[in-house]
Amino acid sequence: MPSRLGAVGAAAPTDTHARTPQVPAPVPPDPADGIRARRAGAAIARVEPITTARALRGPFDYLLGEELVGRTRVGSMLVVPFGRQKLLGVVVGLADGSELPRERLLAPLRALEPGIPPELVELARWIAGEYCSTFARALTLVLPPGAAKRLSGRRRRAVAAPRHQAVGAAAAEAPEPGPDQAAALGPLLEALRAGAGGRFLLHGVTGSGKTEVYLRAAEQALAQGRGAIVMVPEIALTPQIVARFVARFGDTVAVLHSRMTPGQRYEQWRRLREGEARVCVGPRSAVFAPVAELGLIVIDEEHDASYKHEGDPRYDARDVAAERAARAGALLLAGSATPRPESVHAMPLLSLPRRVDGRPLPPVEVLDMRGQRAGLHPVTTAALAAVREREGKAIVLLNRRGWSNFVSCRSCGRVWSCPECDVALVLHRGGGYLACHHCGHRERAPAACTDCRSTAVARHGAGTERLEHDLRHALGDATPVFRLDADTAARDGVTGVLGRFERAPSGVLVGTQMVAKGHDFPDVTLGVVVDADSTLRFPDFRAEERTFALVAQLAGRSGRGGANGRVIVQSHAPGTRALRFASVHDAEGFVTEELKRREAFGYPPYSHIVKLQTASPDHQAAMAAADALASAIDVAGGRLLGPTALFKRKGLERFQIELKSFDRALAVQEVREAVELVSASRAGKDVKFSVDVDPQ
Ligand code: ADP
Ligand code: ZN
Ligand code: ZN
Repeated sequence: MPSRLGAVGAAAPTDTHARTPQVPAPVPPDPADGIRARRAGAAIARVEPITTARALRGPFDYLLGEELVGRTRVGSMLVVPFGRQKLLGVVVGLADGSELPRERLLAPLRALEPGIPPELVELARWIAGEYCSTFARALTLVLPPGAAKRLSGRRRRAVAAPRHQAVGAAAAEAPEPGPDQAAALGPLLEALRAGAGGRFLLHGVTGSGKTEVYLRAAEQALAQGRGAIVMVPEIALTPQIVARFVARFGDTVAVLHSRMTPGQRYEQWRRLREGEARVCVGPRSAVFAPVAELGLIVIDEEHDASYKHEGDPRYDARDVAAERAARAGALLLAGSATPRPESVHAMPLLSLPRRVDGRPLPPVEVLDMRGQRAGLHPVTTAALAAVREREGKAIVLLNRRGWSNFVSCRSCGRVWSCPECDVALVLHRGGGYLACHHCGHRERAPAACTDCRSTAVARHGAGTERLEHDLRHALGDATPVFRLDADTAARDGVTGVLGRFERAPSGVLVGTQMVAKGHDFPDVTLGVVVDADSTLRFPDFRAEERTFALVAQLAGRSGRGGANGRVIVQSHAPGTRALRFASVHDAEGFVTEELKRREAFGYPPYSHIVKLQTASPDHQAAMAAADALASAIDVAGGRLLGPTALFKRKGLERFQIELKSFDRALAVQEVREAVELVSASRAGKDVKFSVDVDPQ
């Protein structure tokens, strides 16, 4: 196969090991090429090789053999010879001529079918610019699942997709929309019919009928022959919404999630690509699903932090969704019980102010923990005892996992800390180990001090593991306690823990913020936030927003038992704005005040923030690189903070610079140029750079 293709280009090697082919020379793209080329039956493909190397910038020209000429489009995936390697490349443009003489051009070895839709190639180009990354890295986001692995040349076996659980026909049938839903649907259906896109923010508490609105909007899109993407925070935490889409639309739905094998995910991708499925439900990455004729993108729980991607490119799937919808003329619908100030600022608001079942939201009591012993307030203990007496259910949130925050020696003061990071190790008593929550380092829990041999080792603070233990002790055997945090999720799976809690006739679910997400337990009558200050303590302008969302989300998921429902929030700062608004369920009031504050201080959405980090095993090198960056950036009209030292993490010394600017494009360009300059200079040696535009 390669030999036949290779024979077309004079310089194309038939065997990449036989001799070293030259690295193709980059050619500047010309947007007019695509059009010209289509007419002429273009013979040159401009290919972006998929590599993470920042220094390597394509596209590179390749000469198409006869059998590839007609079939190659923007988005086609080609295996190309590149230096001594074979790389997967994506066609980002076509041309009938090259600046290089034909005999110097190499030929692709083969094509992988089906390719990427051209609009996703263009979306990747936009992401690279918007988030200060490279085109090649952005393209990895839109590749079909497992594409890079297919380079090995093995033919993919057809994989049977897991059948979605058939859900009873009753569940698939909608009740007529209520008056609030009808009012919200009006402008949505109208926008869909017009087919000209638009954006809306749907604000409604849990149980107010948002999902039903999403379903109706999707129905309308499908009726018009268009497809839909439904983004959810995490599939494991949101099985109900997936089940309802599958019940309503059957095989038209493709579900993507991380627990699928690459083969299963590829099969879902292929079904969408070939039009067998028209609706994609999935997490953040679903924004890149190859849905043709896209008519609608839904972002459920739009406040959720998981929509921000934490690897290069550090994209925000909500902004990518807005861009993709705008390009496709699709409607963007973001929904939440606690919408972000950014979204309220940017989109017209639709409200579902009441729960469908008519039940009121539970009263929220904020308990002042000043002067109290750490742990549970007596009022909280009494409320939990009442749940036990009634044989009811409660959810208790403590946003810290493990047994104790840190351990120290009572005799010499030694604190056990991570050898790779400047942080204290957390005791996990059940497993008998200390763990670093930043790098994953583990060591045996000490029986005695390694410095002075004293056996008086003290544990400080309490996490979910300790709280679980204390609650078991306090509640007795008749009231089971279930723990949900990253540790139990890794062991038993999120669905496993939540399923056991759901099936139990009574019990307490204790855990980190995972307990406040997605799912909905109608028989929970008490919700407790043990330490509402844990999110407030972060030195971040979003600290209050996070605290508000956490409390309001928990309140929305508990206290469904009407008059018996109750939410308790323990705090050392009970008067904080976030808690005042959360205690009266006033999300819109909170956002209004929050936007005023952001405007006064010039925070997003009234400005843009770009964070830069340097990291190196060598303290001096990381610092010098940060200094060089700071002086290379021209902050015209903006403000530059730092460099500030961050704590050592995974063996790397780190420095941070924060750029605040009113001109986003200018800031990104400044930062890109500064990073390119410094990383190529002596100050950039052995230093890693990372750029985060719109950090969370
Ligand atoms: P949300 O997504 O805001 O949490 P849902 O759409 O899940 O709300 O609605 C909550 C419950 O009310 C679900 O059981 C749903 O089937 C039901 N429901 C939604 N809309 C209606 C309606 N118009 N009439 C009757 N029941 C409804
Ligand atoms: Zn000691
Ligand atoms: Zn560590």
